[in-house]
Amino acid sequence: MKTKCTIITLLTLLVAGPLSAATITPAWKAGVATVILTPDQPMWMAGFAARTNVSQGKSTELYGKALCLEDAQGTRLVIITLDLISVPRALRNGVEAALRKEHNLPREALLMNCSHTHSGPEFTLGDGPLPWPMFGNPARAGAKSAEDYGRELQEKLIELVRRGLASFAPAKLSYQHARCGFAMNRRTLRGGSYDNFPNPDGFVDQDVPVLRVDGVDGKLRAVLFGYACHNTTVDFYQFCGDYAGYAQRDFELSHPGVTALFMMGCGGDQNPYPRNTSELAQLHGRTLATAVEAALQTRPRPLPGPLRSAYAEVELNYDGPPSRTDYEAKLKSSDKYEARYARRFLDQLSRDGKLPGNYPFPAQVVQFGDDLTLVGLAGETVVDYALRLKKELAGPAVWVAGYCNDVMGYIPSRRLLREGGYEPCSSMIFSEVHPGPWAPSLEERIIAKIHELNDGLRPRPTANK
Ligand SMILES: [Zn+2]
Repeated sequence: MKTKCTIITLLTLLVAGPLSAATITPAWKAGVATVILTPDQPMWMAGFAARTNVSQGKSTELYGKALCLEDAQGTRLVIITLDLISVPRALRNGVEAALRKEHNLPREALLMNCSHTHSGPEFTLGDGPLPWPMFGNPARAGAKSAEDYGRELQEKLIELVRRGLASFAPAKLSYQHARCGFAMNRRTLRGGSYDNFPNPDGFVDQDVPVLRVDGVDGKLRAVLFGYACHNTTVDFYQFCGDYAGYAQRDFELSHPGVTALFMMGCGGDQNPYPRNTSELAQLHGRTLATAVEAALQTRPRPLPGPLRSAYAEVELNYDGPPSRTDYEAKLKSSDKYEARYARRFLDQLSRDGKLPGNYPFPAQVVQFGDDLTLVGLAGETVVDYALRLKKELAGPAVWVAGYCNDVMGYIPSRRLLREGGYEPCSSMIFSEVHPGPWAPSLEERIIAKIHELNDGLRPRPTANK
């Protein structure tokens, strides 16, 4: 019996050959492009509210990168990754409109993701509310303004995609994944409330999903990899991509000519630990780059396609905005951000007579045939969404990214709203958009929309004749 099994196994290997990237059917075109986004002048930095000065130099460059794909049917997908704090809605809208006009690229074919590095510049677009999470620091002589950077950024990204699409070449795609351990839940119950403190027993998603792009010659051209963890290892005055920047750099140094792109996962309540030194950011980056190498040693799942994608907005409600009296009490706060928050919404109440009751949350689903489903959630999505969607969505591989398309604030789960603390409640004082916390219905509304988009993309079974 044993001999028979061995013979069958050998025959299978002889017929099918060893499963490697070289055996994947080439059905794709892929293009990659990179642009440096490091400001050429000092700027106020985004992410940590306590900074008192503009930037002083850089530890790493900050990059924007585009991975452009087209399947055998001509369906395209453009993924833009940014070593920046945010993807403001206005930036997504501006890039989307330009790509539609220039390349006839539909809305659902664009996915934008930011690493949420806390060592990048603060920038804005247009004259609407400040994008999240920006602090609106005053102009400083000799420093580039947030408005100028935002305008230049949008133009650079449009040009980036132009170059990415122009570099299309036949390619093969496959999916692999591994694990990496430095992300830890950062919500700890102490003295009756949840503090930002390492919690080794809290929920995590330490998956490292990798989309691998090979040329038809079998040579690696690009890797898009993910991890669910805040880029907050360092808190200093130098521009730096934090662990995600170092991971991309280290992987590219080990693979000359290959582009590595980082896509942030649902790391809204996850921090890298230990943290607070530049050496640790480099170490975490090295560790994550090593995890990507480990993923590449696992059995690849070929992705023959086709590509299917959907994009929609779902209205999320606020939990009954605070009253005028609540805001007036906050107006007296010694915390300048809380006072600013109260002033903004009191002004809005006086001007409009009411406050917004809901917010349009962008949700995106991309299917690589029936082999890989990529979910793009907006906002600072917490880990509960990734864990839940990976369980609930059909299909052999599910990749859930947060920080996509419109990073407008934290997106807590129903559980986090019940528990309270920074992400669901007190962080709101940094927002110029949300008048108060989300209603607990947000989790079910987001999950239901993702199911609806995912089910709608699946090809209908053909009826038997
Ligand atoms: Zn954050």
